[in-house]
Amino acid sequence: MTKTVLITGCSTGLGRLAARHFAARGWNVVATMRRPETTLADEFPDRVAVTALDVADPDSIRSAIEAGTDRFGGIDTVVNNAGVTMLSIFEATPEHAARRIFETNLFGAMNVIRAALPALRTRGGGTIVNVSSGVGYAAVPLLSLYVASKHALEGLSESLSYELESQNVRIKLVEPGAMRDTAFTASGMAASQEAPVPDGYRAYFDHALTAMLDYPFASTEESAVADTIWRAANDASRRLRYPVGPDVEEYARLRWTTSEDDYLAAMSRLTGQDAWRNATGAR
Ligand code: NAP
Repeated sequence: MTKTVLITGCSTGLGRLAARHFAARGWNVVATMRRPETTLADEFPDRVAVTALDVADPDSIRSAIEAGTDRFGGIDTVVNNAGVTMLSIFEATPEHAARRIFETNLFGAMNVIRAALPALRTRGGGTIVNVSSGVGYAAVPLLSLYVASKHALEGLSESLSYELESQNVRIKLVEPGAMRDTAFTASGMAASQEAPVPDGYRAYFDHALTAMLDYPFASTEESAVADTIWRAANDASRRLRYPVGPDVEEYARLRWTTSEDDYLAAMSRLTGQDAWRNATGAR
């Protein structure tokens, strides 16, 4: 039987690429986006249905699941891909910006999972792929709210992976590394305008941002992430985490295979925190 996947955030970037990746491999795809346009469906008229879905709007989620079920007979896999970020100093970040990040990255994913579970259970089970990030388990500076939202998504996913085993539903976490020069980076930089850097943080902000741009890792390939989402969706094992990209593979090694002290020391070197301490005499 042809499988059907519903993907959130297909207007750009990874979601769009993942929709193409699944369709090219013979899956039916419910490609959802806030403002639907038809070019994706035109590429695969028999296999892709483009549907409106805002992860902050439960009615739109229900309608998209119904539309996908009507068109393809059911939903087997859900990919929670929609996400937003923001580069900022926490103290200067307005509450509404913090809420927007959590409403999308955490509560949005929860809304989709809650609405999709009855459809998956009707099929006798299924798979939920949550697109997290390497910073879902390893924190870096200047992204505190994004990091917090992805850590929360990881905790939710790990806990649910136990609970949903009883329903034959697998949970997967795909953890991409930094994909440079994408729409995601641009919208994260644009959002940072909402949180002007306070004078007292300016020198630190500039230092940490320069260090971030100098991280010694190649950019993660979007196509490798789309392929990892596809592999995770097809992996019937109980494996939970799928890091992808040179930076997150190193974060994963440090986080999961070294001591807490070694992990923190290595992250301090990578993020330029050591250099900051040396330069300023900070303790
Ligand atoms: P992107 O090109 O900016 O795409 C983000 C998508 O999320 C867009 O389609 C956007 O739709 C959608 N979206 C935002 N808010 C939404 C909402 N309320 N409801 C529905 N859709 C919404 O970024 P990307 O790189 O493909 O990111 C996809 C995922 O990968 C995210 O979860 C992100 O955290 C994760 N990730 C990205 C990177 C990276 O470096 N790019 C690294 C690690 C993890 P609109 O067009 O309507 O805004």
